[in-house]
Amino acid sequence: MCPDNPIPPIDKLQFIADERARLEREGLLISIRTIESPQGAWIQVDGKRVLNLCSNNYLGFANHPSLKTAAQKAIDEFGVGPAAVRTIAGTTVLHTKLEEQLARFKGVEAAISFQSGFNANVATIPALVGKDDLIFSDELNHASIIDGCRLAAAPIIRFEHCNPASLELKLREHHPAGSNRRALVITDGVFSMDGDIAPLAALVELAERFNAMIMVDDAHGEGVLGKGGRGAVDHFKMHGRVDVEIGTLSKAFGVVGGFVAGKRIIIDHLRQKGRPFLFSSALTPADVAACSAAVDILESSDDLVRKLWSNTRYFKSRMQAAGFDTGRSETPITPVMLGEAKTAQQFSRRLFEEGVFAMAIGFPTVPMGKARIRVMISATHEEKDLDYGIEKFAQVGRELKLI
Ligand code: PMP
Repeated sequence: MCPDNPIPPIDKLQFIADERARLEREGLLISIRTIESPQGAWIQVDGKRVLNLCSNNYLGFANHPSLKTAAQKAIDEFGVGPAAVRTIAGTTVLHTKLEEQLARFKGVEAAISFQSGFNANVATIPALVGKDDLIFSDELNHASIIDGCRLAAAPIIRFEHCNPASLELKLREHHPAGSNRRALVITDGVFSMDGDIAPLAALVELAERFNAMIMVDDAHGEGVLGKGGRGAVDHFKMHGRVDVEIGTLSKAFGVVGGFVAGKRIIIDHLRQKGRPFLFSSALTPADVAACSAAVDILESSDDLVRKLWSNTRYFKSRMQAAGFDTGRSETPITPVMLGEAKTAQQFSRRLFEEGVFAMAIGFPTVPMGKARIRVMISATHEEKDLDYGIEKFAQVGRELKLI
């Protein structure tokens, strides 16, 4: 102890060790596995070849030859780094081409790319609303929406999950006709942990009636829903009625990055006000070129989207027949509901030993007591792969007396 300082020394980092111990005790500690091969139906993980049931590689673009060729060509022509933020020296012709392609694909006036979908949310929400305005947010919206809302500093009014009647009540209470506050309604298009689809048509009608802006995060809708994977707005035929859509380039598009698509006035505004656009370096040439190649493929054929959906129907119907609860999923995201986090972790560990890679998801990603294994179906799977996964799920389910 220092003689001049009578306060006994304490370990200032003890709180981290305490928190880790708690997570471990409650079965909530995340263990991270390491991938040693390209993405695909079967991958090498921690030294073992396993069936991959947990990547967001919906259409197989993460290791697609056309995307790889486009990325290699972009490196040859433009190098590896953007060397600047978009507003200084980071906007290449590759970026503007991708943004034009995305706008055309989504059927909107304009699009802007970001370094991630997370950044796209964090950029957009504070650019649209501030402390004097209101946000109406589905209670199960993604973490990046929640963080974007917090940064916006506007009061956040949560409505019940996928419940337009609940949104209507909240709008009546907080944003009655004639109110001169700005209001923004935000929903995921497809909910990432449950795989259900927002009732977009009803939400759009309410936003219109109450004169609120409406924003949809379509991270899991793109490449999945709508004609040829054009997303949730296309699925509900709501073109022109949703002010702004958030997208990611890291799931169906197979690469990395995010984008915002919508009315030109909003996209132009984000070029002035979207803080990750102004203050964080641009996407790399290779990423952008690979994404352009992904859009080209999607525009030329819907074969992969069809395969994704036939795999989804095949897997879900057989899992349900085997006695598993797949929640309220309507999309390739297939939660296998298991309840306690420890059960889900044990299930996932046993699956891995049996050659199936499917991660357990617990609190805070999903509510307490609603832990699950979240299976992600991909167009890269063949029926025999899915049969193998179903057989192993059933084997472990019986072993743990869950089915
Ligand atoms: N929104 C939703 C609904 C998501 O599921 C995700 C990814 N988990 C994101 C945004 C963030 O996208 P990205 O991984 O590109 O940051």
